[in-house]
Amino acid sequence: MHYSTNDNKSTSKKKVVAVVGGGLVGALNACYFAKRGFQVEVFESREDIRQAKIVKGRSINLALSHRGRQALKQVGMEDTIVSKGIPMHSRMIHSLNGTQSPIPYGKKGQYILSVDRANLNKELLSAAETYPNTNLNFAHKLLDWSTETGVMTFVRAEGAKEEIQADLIVGCDGAFSAIRKQFLRQSRFNYSQTYIPHGYLELTMPPINGEFAMKPNYLHIWPRNTFMMIALPNLDKTFTCTLFMPFEEFEKVTTGDQVLTFFQKYFPDAIPLIGAEALKRDYFRLPAQAMVSVKCSPYHLGDKCVLMGDAAHAVVPFYGQGMNAGFEDCLVLNEIMDQLNEDFSAVLPEYTRVRVPDDHAIADLAMYNYVEMRAHVNSKLFLFRKYVDNFLHIIMPRTIIPLYTMVTFTRTRYHKAVKRWHWQEKVINQGLLFCAAVSVAGGSYLLVRYPPNMPNIPTEQLWSRLQALKSPF
Ligand SMILES: Cc1cc2nc3c(=O)[nH]c(=O)nc-3n(C[C@H](O)[C@H](O)[C@H](O)COP(=O)(O)OP(=O)(O)OC[C@H]3O[C@@H](n4cnc5c(N)ncnc54)[C@H](O)[C@@H]3O)c2cc1C
Repeated sequence: MHYSTNDNKSTSKKKVVAVVGGGLVGALNACYFAKRGFQVEVFESREDIRQAKIVKGRSINLALSHRGRQALKQVGMEDTIVSKGIPMHSRMIHSLNGTQSPIPYGKKGQYILSVDRANLNKELLSAAETYPNTNLNFAHKLLDWSTETGVMTFVRAEGAKEEIQADLIVGCDGAFSAIRKQFLRQSRFNYSQTYIPHGYLELTMPPINGEFAMKPNYLHIWPRNTFMMIALPNLDKTFTCTLFMPFEEFEKVTTGDQVLTFFQKYFPDAIPLIGAEALKRDYFRLPAQAMVSVKCSPYHLGDKCVLMGDAAHAVVPFYGQGMNAGFEDCLVLNEIMDQLNEDFSAVLPEYTRVRVPDDHAIADLAMYNYVEMRAHVNSKLFLFRKYVDNFLHIIMPRTIIPLYTMVTFTRTRYHKAVKRWHWQEKVINQGLLFCAAVSVAGGSYLLVRYPPNMPNIPTEQLWSRLQALKSPF
């Protein structure tokens, strides 16, 4: 089949864009290209998930934030998706002794949204389909494509092969992209992938008496240093709990009783909420899934092909930005298409130039948050710094902006957010050091000037008292 126009006189509006992958980013991208008037052909390896009884895939729900919302807004989808999301204003930290303490995500009124992945994907596919110039081709798995001719080879569900050509190929086929394989054969293509030692598995916390088992407007976190569990609310009043843990720890838990013992030790408050029997059963429903971080550059091949979403930059999920960054990819490409009159030979290199530093920055930040979420949130110093940052942001909103706020509630370019964060850290740390030095100097002066009535303790006794202070008990 030959979809390409290959007609020099034809306007770019008639060009055919093949979007490979009808996941979150592919389906949104189809709307963007269709809105511009291109003939859009989406090729998705799975059957139509709108008809499927069980939708296999990754996390059941995800956190949607500003960048993702802005991208949805541009194609008129923001309100539909937001209306089916649950706002989460704060993290809720569950300590081992069962106490819960909230840490707000930002200022009053700022929140992230828990959205259902399958529903989001379905809504985006249906939105793409409303454009008369879009076709959704399900059960089309890309096997390979030629960089010389641009011909793509698909295999159908029944095993038949189909060859298809388009003017532009947009690779939105996820972290293990088949489109990207051809890039790996090109000279000067940089590529790296890192599997983290942790895997994840999902558990469901059912409603209790028809109501959420925990406070719904929070992202619940049980940080336990080397591992953690999180829970996001769903519209059906369940929570999806995700346990992130090193694979070697998962492998140690092999029986239902061991699951219970493990939860009694680390997440005792979650047992009655998930249910002991359900826990013992559901823990083994699926094996723990791996998480990979992929970085590559450039994102384009000539004027023929571009990688977007996880195909270009799979990030670990700890900043809740993978999909948001992928959605923002669509927005950025769209902005560049405006600037460069849809001339693919200029648009694609510009897209690589603009987007690579940002996607690499969010990949690094997600790795950083991998430690912050499970370990730092337990530290008093970390909490103190969060409060200092938030306080400074309130009194100097333009000068000090917390990193999380820049990433989650603005469209500040990711790499610029990181740069600014480093600068702020330096300034705030120096400020705190200065305050500490002034306090010590002031305190010492007052002690000398107005010495307190101290008991006269002999030096040896003082030394043994100091030694006693070092004892953990
Ligand atoms: C546990 C977990 C939690 C997450 N939480 C968040 C979060 O809270 N917030 C957030 O922003 N992000 C989150 N993410 C990241 C987010 O899931 C991804 O960034 C997002 O799904 C990327 O979308 P995509 O369309 O690029 O890729 P995918 O969602 O992987 O879609 C790729 C599509 O391509 C299809 N495909 C694959 N190969 C082929 C082929 N050869 N031919 C044709 N079609 C093909 C697949 O079937 C699929 O439909 C999370 C990820 C994980 C693993």
